[in-house]
Amino acid sequence: MAFAAKYRSRCPNCHQSIEVGQTIEAKRGQKARHADCNQNAKDEAATQRTVAYVRTMGQWLRENPEPTMSGFAVEHGAPTVMLDGCLTSEERRYAEAEHTKQARAWLARKGLLAVFEVEHAVWEQKRARAESMFHVGRSADNGDER
Ligand SMILES: [Zn+2]
Repeated sequence: MAFAAKYRSRCPNCHQSIEVGQTIEAKRGQKARHADCNQNAKDEAATQRTVAYVRTMGQWLRENPEPTMSGFAVEHGAPTVMLDGCLTSEERRYAEAEHTKQARAWLARKGLLAVFEVEHAVWEQKRARAESMFHVGRSADNGDER
């Protein structure tokens, strides 16, 4: 039920102050909030935009995976290292780091390190472009809210 506030308080929804006389809503045992407070709707919309962004960016990353030093080395003829599926995540991280180190040394020997770095830099640029493209709606909306 909506009624006029009898004393000042703070809206638990939007964290803005509630002034005496403002129309509020209060349920028994709950703090009063602005009757017209639409923070929930804003939060909901922001969450949906974030979910959409994560989904779109995830899709982009599946289609454009980050080039890795080891993947690039193997593509150019370096020996393949198969990582055992039974490894714990910590062992896997360690093995991947070792693999990357070996791949870096291999690429350096073949004079391909600079080629990989260019390829990676191109991917970084594409990723940044995709990010800003998928972000557009979100940052514009945030700007309006502030
Ligand atoms: Zn409020």
